[in-house]
Amino acid sequence: MESAPATKQQARVSLSYDDVLAWVRAFAAEAEANKEYLTQLDAAIGDGDHGINMNRGMSAVAGKLDDSAGDQDIGALLKTVGMTLVSTVGGAGGPLYGTLFLQMGTAASGKSELGPDDWAAALEAGIKGVQARGKAEPGDKTMLDSLLPGLEALRSALEGGASFEDALTASADAAGQGMRDTIPLVAKKGRASYLGERSAGHQDPGATSSHMLLETAAATWGGRGDAAESPPES
Ligand code: ADP
Ligand code: MG
Repeated sequence: MESAPATKQQARVSLSYDDVLAWVRAFAAEAEANKEYLTQLDAAIGDGDHGINMNRGMSAVAGKLDDSAGDQDIGALLKTVGMTLVSTVGGAGGPLYGTLFLQMGTAASGKSELGPDDWAAALEAGIKGVQARGKAEPGDKTMLDSLLPGLEALRSALEGGASFEDALTASADAAGQGMRDTIPLVAKKGRASYLGERSAGHQDPGATSSHMLLETAAATWGGRGDAAESPPES
């Protein structure tokens, strides 16, 4: 009897330290490229600084990583990202993204390689940190509205036997849908909640940057050729 076709060559089975570093750097580039866009989204329902905040924080991160020797500890790398965000970005976004990366770092502590389940566990720990810190529920029109569907899609793709790359793509796609689904929502947390019903009709800036985070993971590590939202390099 014929066996199943040979598995795709060079299918990704794990992430190395350098892979995670490449993702963090790609997200920093994405934050810079989308600074105006994220700021415009925040101007509509917040105070118009989300792009400035994310770019300030992630460029500080990129500078820190250039300095760091790199001891191959992915957990330590992610904790450095988180601490740098907490110390360089004010407002809600900095501490929330800082917590996301810090908790991911704790979950990945001492690891020099992350398999698909390790990645899912790290992402889940980060999201739980954001929930514990910000007390937002799904549907409150926050970054969780792209992160949670992204995590769920990652888990169910892996459980269904998808390759790591396909699971990353499914995760990014679900985060993108979650991001678009924030448009009609009325904000219940953060500055946008001060607008009440008037916050409806606008895409949440934090859900947008969080989609970029997962889209960048799919683009850096997965089969996705390029990050969907990044404008051409200048
Ligand atoms: P600030 O609101 O302090 O100006 P940013 O503009 O950088 O901070 O970030 C705003 C984003 O932060 C929102 O679009 C939302 O996604 C996210 N956010 C705000 N409050 C919370 C919260 N309690 N939990 C999760 N995310 C939140
Ligand atoms: Mg803001």
